[in-house]
Amino acid sequence: MSIQDSEAEALLRQRLQAQELRITPNRLSVFRALLQSARPLSVPELAQRLQADGLSVPTLYRIVEVFSAIGVTHPVLVDHQSVGYELREPFRTHHDHLVCSGCGRVVDLYNCDLTDVMAQLGRDNQCRVNFHQVELHGLCAECTAAKTSGPLPR
Ligand SMILES: [Zn+2]
Ligand SMILES: [Zn+2]
Repeated sequence: MSIQDSEAEALLRQRLQAQELRITPNRLSVFRALLQSARPLSVPELAQRLQADGLSVPTLYRIVEVFSAIGVTHPVLVDHQSVGYELREPFRTHHDHLVCSGCGRVVDLYNCDLTDVMAQLGRDNQCRVNFHQVELHGLCAECTAAKTSGPLPR
């Protein structure tokens, strides 16, 4: 559920250019790795995937910070402790996250419709709400099934 790769890269180029940033081979490698991943990737995971490109961990941190600053990625809590990065709209369809308290996995939640809630919150607090990223906590489908059929494995 994402836009075409070529379209995504053109959009990245635009975003970078708008901030007078260049599209470097390193930035492109990181972007492609994120585009190909179905789940958020931490910097150590990116380092592993991009080992052949020889990207160091500090370089990767700088790149994901730039991406997050210009709205290309956002940080997501993974496994209750580490931070992963994933592409935002329009690179990916909008979704929120459920952090499973049973197994720690992060589940993407689609079909979110918080438009009215955002507008209401903005009005009530005299703010302008532009976007949201919601982290819900609970049990994933598998843990829910395990719970209804017996005790949790851990
Ligand atoms: Zn779970
Ligand atoms: Zn949402």
